[in-house]
Amino acid sequence: MNDISVLGIFVADISFSGKKIPSVGETILGDGYNIGPGGKGCNQAIAIARLGGNVSFISKIGKDDYGSLALDTLKKNKIDTKYIIEQKDLQTGVAGIMIDKRTGKNAINVITGAPSTLTNDDLKDKIQIIKKSKIFLTQLEIPKQVTLNCLKIAKENNTLTILNPAPASDLSKEFFYYIDYFTPNETEAEFYTGIKITNQNEAKKASEKLLNLGIKKVIITLGEKGLFYSDGKEDIFLKATSVKAIDTTGAGDAFNGGLAFALSQNKPIKSALNLANQVAGLSTTKLGAGESMPTLSNLGSI
Ligand code: ADP
Repeated sequence: MNDISVLGIFVADISFSGKKIPSVGETILGDGYNIGPGGKGCNQAIAIARLGGNVSFISKIGKDDYGSLALDTLKKNKIDTKYIIEQKDLQTGVAGIMIDKRTGKNAINVITGAPSTLTNDDLKDKIQIIKKSKIFLTQLEIPKQVTLNCLKIAKENNTLTILNPAPASDLSKEFFYYIDYFTPNETEAEFYTGIKITNQNEAKKASEKLLNLGIKKVIITLGEKGLFYSDGKEDIFLKATSVKAIDTTGAGDAFNGGLAFALSQNKPIKSALNLANQVAGLSTTKLGAGESMPTLSNLGSI
């Protein structure tokens, strides 16, 4: 049986590392570059697979070099490619990533390519896997009517849903009925609530606002400060793992993958958050997004 299905995009991350992120009009001489797997959905699927989770990834790619990188990446990580739609006349997505080597912080421009054309019709024969999964995890990088339809189908079939609402984007009220776990970072949480989050108290206020929309559980990730969880009854604040971060690209994806994996193992919420926090922290100690996802045995090292 399949435990977790992830719907989202694959893109080839083309990252440039340097002593700063160039400003508009500025040219700098950087230190190095890398082309590797990215896209929130694919990163999250890789995170789950590396932890030992049983995961299916649903996506659309073009038939081009980056499409081959997508298929190779999935195979290498033992993720079934049967739910990937390949379309000849479309481009596989790419992301241009500028990394500040001193802080690990980044600025990203994503061209989603093929999956921007995804329709509910495309997924008709792939949707069965969502119905059979324990957990359905998705983000906001594909057309919203497809995301909404899949969340709805998941809930109608008693599949637990996690929406990582990134990148921040306006959502209709209907979305909120179908979300069990809502996992914005602090900037996204501000977008959805209008509350700027600089401390735990503000995180609590923002989560109350989100819970009032119908979401069942809110987790606001706070970067190097950690995370805040609330289900309206229980609040949990966890400090981030103490690591030397060199590239935070994909930290949120590592977190969401870790969370989905832990919940699929029926871990209680506090240990699920703990595991996700560790997976995310460790992912920042390596360059890249998909490539930086740790394995269960890596977790023992912190
Ligand atoms: P996103 O990558 O979506 O912007 P965050 O920056 O909030 O998300 O990071 C997600 C999670 O990654 C955090 O909740 C934390 O667990 C972990 N994390 C991020 N940055 C660091 C860091 N510098 N040190 C340790 N853990 C980190």
